Amino acid sequence: MPELAPDLLDKVTNLAKRRGFIFQSAEIYGGFRSTYDYGPLGVNMLRNVKDQWWLSMVQLRDDVVGIDAAILGPPAVWAASGHLETFTDPLVDCRNCKERWREDKIDGICPKCGSKEFTEPRAFNLMFKTQAGPVEGEGATAYLRPETAQGMFTNFGNVLASIRKKPPFGIAQVGKSFRNEITPQNFVFRTREFEQMEMEYFVPPAEAPKWHQYWIDARYNWYINLGIPAEFLRLHEHALADLSHYSKGTTDVEFAYPWGWDELEGIANRGDYDLTQHSTHSGTKLDYFDPTTNERYTPYVIEPAAGATRAMMAFLLAAYHEDVVEGETRSVLRLDWRIAPYQVAILPLSKKPELEGVSREILAKLQPHFMCDYDVTQSIGKRYRRQDEVGTPFCITVDFDTLQDQSVTVRDRDTTEQTRVKISDLLSDLRRRTNQE
Ligand code: ATP
Repeated sequence: MPELAPDLLDKVTNLAKRRGFIFQSAEIYGGFRSTYDYGPLGVNMLRNVKDQWWLSMVQLRDDVVGIDAAILGPPAVWAASGHLETFTDPLVDCRNCKERWREDKIDGICPKCGSKEFTEPRAFNLMFKTQAGPVEGEGATAYLRPETAQGMFTNFGNVLASIRKKPPFGIAQVGKSFRNEITPQNFVFRTREFEQMEMEYFVPPAEAPKWHQYWIDARYNWYINLGIPAEFLRLHEHALADLSHYSKGTTDVEFAYPWGWDELEGIANRGDYDLTQHSTHSGTKLDYFDPTTNERYTPYVIEPAAGATRAMMAFLLAAYHEDVVEGETRSVLRLDWRIAPYQVAILPLSKKPELEGVSREILAKLQPHFMCDYDVTQSIGKRYRRQDEVGTPFCITVDFDTLQDQSVTVRDRDTTEQTRVKISDLLSDLRRRTNQE
């Protein structure tokens, strides 16, 4: 485990609320357990995380396409996928304090009161069930999806028929999923409503082991590339006995959370389980005919399944630092510029109209290229600290010299180094600093 700041989880949770990343949902009504709202900075960051995933998984590839499937689904989908039958957690009640727990997460001791006396475990289905339309009864039952994956399987035939792809190829999706978790906990690590980023990669069965390893490496490197230090990450291969009902092999990317190593993303070899199940249950053949070999086969599926909200939390935890600048302790989020809520902050030294005028011109020039903040309140030192705390990589200070020399000061969040740059060179300068030129 890497060395973490003391009380890291509390510090990041507090910062997230105070600075507009993540709020307790319905807080003015006392909150609603395990639901969160993303504030002005959080929505930027979450969007960046999802965009970076989409960039690497879809845009930069010619073998993966995206979809956006419905959240509500009929029972037939979940009967075929196995979720109605097996998507359960073992629920136990503490006989002493009556608190409910997930048996596999508590090592036989009640985390609340320490008792070792529990009721027999009962299988608790994690799917949210609801009614679609005004008709009571079986036909109108619907479920909120507990994973995005099934939308890719049920649309396999549609996608294949509408685009010219052949295995190996993938279908990707980003969106909300819902699980009625028994013990949601640890801020946004485990919530009942969350966002997933999943891709189903369909391959000829013989190539499945090779592609499984490929996606384990690719997904691990995605986190490294976006700035999570290697010491915060490790791969964990599931023992055969622990595999989910559909899996022929699963490796998790684990992250060093303040409570220990835990899952960030799972990369599973699902075999032909899903396409076979949906073919059998729906009566629609979901397979692939290879015209070059005249063979018909059901592709195997390699699935990298990540949580967007959980990933955002990991990025925040890994980025949080405290250091001393000019004799003062500061907290700083060392976020990669691509996922920081703001990439650039424009800070006029005073509210004088002539400074505001040129500052707003700079803002308008940079906004099409970077997410920008604009702040005129408080001393410049305080404003730097506020930007450091939310991870803004670059501050642009506009001062009275600017009016004479047409230059501004660019301050780097991590080194705190300040450089004078001509306004006419500013965009190129920022592009160079972010390796875009
Ligand atoms: P666990 O065993 O911890 O309940 P899981 O192994 O069932 O989780 P998956 O079904 O593999 O999780 O889901 C894929 C990814 O979706 C997870 O790695 C995680 O990032 C995210 N995820 C799953 N459940 C939640 C949740 N309740 N809250 C936030 N993210 C979640």
